Amino acid sequence: MIWDEKVETLPREALKALQVERLRDVAGRVYATVPFYKRAFDEKGIKPDDIKSMDDLKRLPFTTKQDLRDNYPYGLFTVPLENVVRIHASSGTTGKPTVVGYTKKDIETWAELMARALNAAGATKGDIIHNSYGYGLFTGGLGIHYGAERLGASVIPMSGGNSKKQIMLMEDFGSTVLTCTPSYALSLAETAEDMGVDFKNLKLKVGLFGAEPWSDKMRKEIEKKLNLEAVDVYGLSEIIGPGVGVECIEAKNGLHVFEDHFIVEVIDPETGEPLPYGENGELVFTTLTKEAFPSIRYRTRDISALDPEPCVCGRTSVRMERVSGRTDDMLIIRGVNVFPSQIESVLMNIEGVEPHYVLIVDRKGTLDTLEVQVEVNENVFSDSIKNLQALSNKIQKDVKDFLSISVKVKLVEPKTIQRSEGKAQRVIDNRKI
Ligand SMILES: [Zn+2]
Repeated sequence: MIWDEKVETLPREALKALQVERLRDVAGRVYATVPFYKRAFDEKGIKPDDIKSMDDLKRLPFTTKQDLRDNYPYGLFTVPLENVVRIHASSGTTGKPTVVGYTKKDIETWAELMARALNAAGATKGDIIHNSYGYGLFTGGLGIHYGAERLGASVIPMSGGNSKKQIMLMEDFGSTVLTCTPSYALSLAETAEDMGVDFKNLKLKVGLFGAEPWSDKMRKEIEKKLNLEAVDVYGLSEIIGPGVGVECIEAKNGLHVFEDHFIVEVIDPETGEPLPYGENGELVFTTLTKEAFPSIRYRTRDISALDPEPCVCGRTSVRMERVSGRTDDMLIIRGVNVFPSQIESVLMNIEGVEPHYVLIVDRKGTLDTLEVQVEVNENVFSDSIKNLQALSNKIQKDVKDFLSISVKVKLVEPKTIQRSEGKAQRVIDNRKI
C-alpha cells in the first residue's frame, strides 16, 4: 500500500534533484535567521548558494544534541514564536530538555508523513488504531495521532499505562492496529495472559513499534505473542518525531526513509566522514522542509547502515537498516564494544528465555564486569538446579562465542524484571557511581 504513489516512487535522479533544491533553500533559511548556523557555516567557509549538488552536503556543519541544549529553549527556531503552533521537548538524563517547535505547515507535513508510515504498515481508513504511545511533550503520541486522523482511521488516544484497561478496550473496541514501544507491546502481552485474554481472539492485525532499538528476534516474539505483524517505525523529535522512516509490510526489511523531506547519511562516528552504502555507522539527518525548527546534519547517535537497492513494494527511497544500538549506549567492556541489542539477539535465540533482561555493568578493581539478568519461563524456572545451571552455561558460552566477552549470567523468575510503559531501561551502569 502506498499513500503518495507519485512521490514515494519517484525515480532516484529526480529525488536527488529535489533534495538539492530543498537543501539550498533550508540552508538559506537557517543561515539568514539563526546566529548559531551562520557562525557554523562561516567557520566551514560555505554559503548556502555554494550548494550545487549532493556532494556539497558533506561541507556543511553537523548539529548535535549539545547544540540544542546550548541554544535552549528557542535559539534554533527560524521563525518568530507567533508562527509556532506546537512545542515538544525530549527529556535528557541530566538537566534541561531539548526543545523543538512546529508551524502549522510543519504539523501538516508531519501528519502527512505519519499517514504514509501507517499506510506502509498496512493501515487504512477502515482501521481502528489503538495508540499507546505517550501523549505529552514526547512526540510519539501526538505524532501517531495526527497521522491516523490524516489517514482517516479511527484513533483511540490511550497513551501509556493502565495495561488492564488497554487490553479491555482493545478487545471491546475491536482495535485492528496497535502503536507503542516494542517493550510495552511485550508488557501488554503479559497483562493479557494474566487476565486470561488470548490475542488470537482480538482483531489486531498489525503493530507499529518504535522509539527504541529492537531485534528481529524480538519482532518474532511480539508477532507470536500478540498475533499480529510487527513493523518498525523510526523518528526523533529533533527531526520531526515518528515518521522519518518506516518498514513496508511487504518486505519488513529495512525502513524506507522519506527522502523528499529528509536527507539521510551514515557517518563514521569518530572521524565524521560519510560512509559508503552498507557500512555501519551513525545516522545523520537533514530536514528539507521543516519551517520552525530545521536541522542541518543532525547527529542522532543511532547506529545503522543504508541500502539503496529497489524494494519489492515499489518505493524508490533508500532504506535504513533497523537501528542496532546507539553510539552513546554502546558499552565498552574490557575494551570490547557491546550493544545491548547484540546481547538481546543472543538471548532470543535460546529456548526457555524470555525477552526481558537487564545488563548490569560494574567495575571490580580495574576490571569491568557485565552481568546479564534474564527472565526464564515458568517451566524452566521450576526445572532442576542442574538444568538451570546448564541454561546459564549456554547463555555464557553463546555470548562469548558471538561477542567475545565473558559475562556473568543470573536467571531470574518470570515477571521480576521491571516493565516499562515507554522506553525500557536495559542497562544499569554502576561504574559511574
Ligand atoms: Zn518496501
